[in-house]
Amino acid sequence: MPDYDVIVIGAGLGGLTSGALCSHRGRKTLVLEQGDLVGGCCSTFEKDGYHFDVGASVVEVIGSIVNAMADMGVEVGEVMDLIPCDPIYDYILKDGTRFQFPVSVEETTEVIKKVAPQDAAAWPGFAAYMKEFIAIATDAVFGSPMVTFADVARMFVKHPALLKFGPLFTGSYQDVIFHWFKTEAMRQTAAYQSFYAGLPPELAGGTYALLGYSEHEGVWYPRGGMIKIPEAFQRVGERHGMEVRTGCRVVQVIIREGRVAGVILDDGTEITAPLVISNINAMTLYLDLIGEQYMPRLTRVGIKSYRPSMSVPMVYLGVDYEPELEAHHTLVTLPMEEMDEYWWNVYEKGRLPDRMFGLVCWPTESDPALAPEGHHVVNLILTPGPYRLEGTDWDSEKEALIDRSIQFFTEKAMPGLADHVKIAEISTPLDYERKLLHPEGAIYGLSEETTASLCFRPSARSKFIEGLYLTGASTHPGGGVPAAVASGRIAADLIDRYE
Ligand SMILES: Cc1cc2nc3c(=O)[nH]c(=O)nc-3n(C[C@H](O)[C@H](O)[C@H](O)COP(=O)(O)OP(=O)(O)OC[C@H]3O[C@@H](n4cnc5c(N)ncnc54)[C@H](O)[C@@H]3O)c2cc1C
Repeated sequence: MPDYDVIVIGAGLGGLTSGALCSHRGRKTLVLEQGDLVGGCCSTFEKDGYHFDVGASVVEVIGSIVNAMADMGVEVGEVMDLIPCDPIYDYILKDGTRFQFPVSVEETTEVIKKVAPQDAAAWPGFAAYMKEFIAIATDAVFGSPMVTFADVARMFVKHPALLKFGPLFTGSYQDVIFHWFKTEAMRQTAAYQSFYAGLPPELAGGTYALLGYSEHEGVWYPRGGMIKIPEAFQRVGERHGMEVRTGCRVVQVIIREGRVAGVILDDGTEITAPLVISNINAMTLYLDLIGEQYMPRLTRVGIKSYRPSMSVPMVYLGVDYEPELEAHHTLVTLPMEEMDEYWWNVYEKGRLPDRMFGLVCWPTESDPALAPEGHHVVNLILTPGPYRLEGTDWDSEKEALIDRSIQFFTEKAMPGLADHVKIAEISTPLDYERKLLHPEGAIYGLSEETTASLCFRPSARSKFIEGLYLTGASTHPGGGVPAAVASGRIAADLIDRYE
């Protein structure tokens, strides 16, 4: 008798979602997490009374969370307290212009009339177009497995209305934004968000342009920190018998006669199960934990052809004053062309970031209990950072980067910041690799070019190893909190269908 029905490798959002769903459906499920905390990139750690989010700073498009919880008979409000974040962003453009976008589409129109009047007429049309796209795509693209090309074809046959959104599938993120908006101000408000897909505006797929509207359907922060989302899935799973063990690193997936048979931990312990769900990077899974000898030749080539997604250094600050910020998120942005130029001339060349742009996250604006009384937490998500640095390495650059970023954001966004920092921590690409075992510090699993999306991304159901399923950022639908949860549901549903 195997020890478990299902073993999940990794307690990220994808792993915990599929683990909870499998338990709810009567499967004896074990989740193995190498770290001390659950949640992976969507987690929260404590230091000296300050609670810092590891990576993800808000959640939006929460339909996948609602659906996964509903599958288990749970309403989201019963298991997590999602605090609305409104305004969505406080923008600081290159020339220093500063304004906020509220959640309301109508109120946003009023802001645009002041800061980018020539685009005020286009904005409601863009919002309506993306609203319609999201209504169809949430289930058709996001919630459906894309294992083979037939699944993609079926998506268009089942949802012919998607054809109307052809330019989103064929054009780049930048093409879509430039098509809709002509002013520099509007283009700058959307420039940084292409990196939520792990790519600069001219490389990210056009479908990601929905982000410019999706945030107007609501942005939330879970009371207690981002870890409250994975913890909610853990709690619901545990009600149905799911076991979660932290501090357990899986080093091998056991394969017998073309089928998974269990896993081996780094201390040599063998745990058996006929089903394994992997929530770790798909390249690590196939190349390190399984081994090339089990892979058909073409698959070997295919897996090696992926690139780990981009990484980004993040600075965590505990401060003893209330920063002069206007929103949970402040976006210090640049023209799209400069983001593209940064990507080609700095990121791709492995150079230490030579300029600053990025996101200031202020979680204590939403939940003051995350810092000691009178204190605040400010997290800085900086410019994308290449894993390999020309002529230096991340460990040598940490202190200087913390100092530079504090100085930059003091001048650009938060007067007085530099005088009020009580503690400062940083995660560099190297730290993400060490702490979460993400190769090259990849924050979205695999790079999300069109050629690595939908059925071109590693399949949620392995095509050559029976009983092996994938969830998380490196399978469809990709990176991000809602996508990881959606992938967890897809893996659990595929198990129901095939096992
Ligand atoms: C800086 C940053 C900012 C972000 N901002 C946002 C945001 O605001 N909103 C949003 O929606 N998304 C955001 N994201 C992306 C989002 O957090 C992730 O895409 C999502 O959480 C990934 O979930 P996952 O299921 O792929 O699991 P992961 O988070 O990748 O977790 C995988 C888990 O597997 C564990 N593991 C790895 N190897 C092993 C092994 N061998 N054995 C056992 N366990 C193992 C790891 O320790 C980890 O806990 C951000 C990410 C980062 C890093």
